[in-house]
Amino acid sequence: MSEKIYVLIDHGNGEIRVPSLESLALGQRMAEEAGFSLHALILGHKIQPLAERIASQKVESVLLVEDQKLADYDPDMYCKALSQIITEDQPYLLLMAHIYQNIDLAPKLAAVISRGLVTDCIGYRKEADTFIFVRQMFRNRLNAEVQIRSEHPWIVTMQVGATSVDDLREGSAQVIERPVDLSDVELRRKPLEAFEATKGKVDLSQAEWIVAVGRGIKKAENLKIIEELAEVLGAEIAASRPVVDSEWLTRDRQVGSSGQTVTPRLYVACGISGAIQHIVGMKNSDCIVAINTDPNAPIFNIATYGIVGDLFEIVPALTKKLKEAKGL
Ligand SMILES: Cc1cc2nc3c(=O)[nH]c(=O)nc-3n(C[C@H](O)[C@H](O)[C@H](O)COP(=O)(O)OP(=O)(O)OC[C@H]3O[C@@H](n4cnc5c(N)ncnc54)[C@H](O)[C@@H]3O)c2cc1C
Repeated sequence: MSEKIYVLIDHGNGEIRVPSLESLALGQRMAEEAGFSLHALILGHKIQPLAERIASQKVESVLLVEDQKLADYDPDMYCKALSQIITEDQPYLLLMAHIYQNIDLAPKLAAVISRGLVTDCIGYRKEADTFIFVRQMFRNRLNAEVQIRSEHPWIVTMQVGATSVDDLREGSAQVIERPVDLSDVELRRKPLEAFEATKGKVDLSQAEWIVAVGRGIKKAENLKIIEELAEVLGAEIAASRPVVDSEWLTRDRQVGSSGQTVTPRLYVACGISGAIQHIVGMKNSDCIVAINTDPNAPIFNIATYGIVGDLFEIVPALTKKLKEAKGL
């Protein structure tokens, strides 16, 4: 019998979460390379329509775990349900998206089934008859290659944006109901209302022009040159996470995996290195102009136009030229 790869499909508000589709796309690639079969696993209550949606992707089957006790995420319930399924089925590995819920769930599950876990991976490589996983360390300055030594099933969480949903391939699969026994799990938590960390006043998703600023701006007082450029362009101001974490701009201006996703006609990235968590939120902009002193900054890999230089010279010069062109 061939080995199996399982992918956990997360959902919320009746929608499948995009990072799970990214994991599914990665699972498709891994399964094909290794000659394994791929199975999606979805847990919840009244989620048959979501399971049907996944069944239209290229998977061997969709395993549907439907139980009223799984209606809201609860680590004890979810862990029990998952451990039952994967202990019974013994897949080669279980892939999950590295989202908050799974950051909570994956280590608990790994501990319960005593199997290896590697988290927040950005990729993998196949070596002989095994997989090696790649994860970033030391604030993304180093890529570590990790080999899991435990027995299977392994548990692997994938960084948001590490694969693209554009790579997903369609197919047709059967939905198979899998009952689980949660009778001995005591409910110890009561979920409060869900909130969106990035919900705020500024809706960058609708902006046609964006001037985005990163840590290269150095301090809040320097933001004036960015505001001037944004004003002359009629653009919204966006930021990378360090700028927001430093409270130089509000959280609703953050672009990236834990911020907003934007698709403007123009995205001017000033002093932004181009970390994967930022790129995932802006890579579909029509035209990306990057200004950075470091010619090797990853932002240049996706930029339409790249300017290697000091933003403190370039941004005011651009503003001046634009003002002249507009007769201001
Ligand atoms: C779970 C998780 C979620 C995350 N979510 C997000 C997210 O949603 N959004 C996000 O942005 N990040 C996110 N991050 C952080 C991300 O990994 C990076 O740390 C961050 O994007 C880096 O921001 P930056 O490019 O502004 O800073 P840096 O990486 O420090 O880059 C600053 C850049 O400015 C350049 N520079 C310096 N001086 C100048 C100058 N005078 N002129 C021109 N260029 C200059 C430098 O060469 C450098 O490339 C997340 C990280 C994690 C772990």
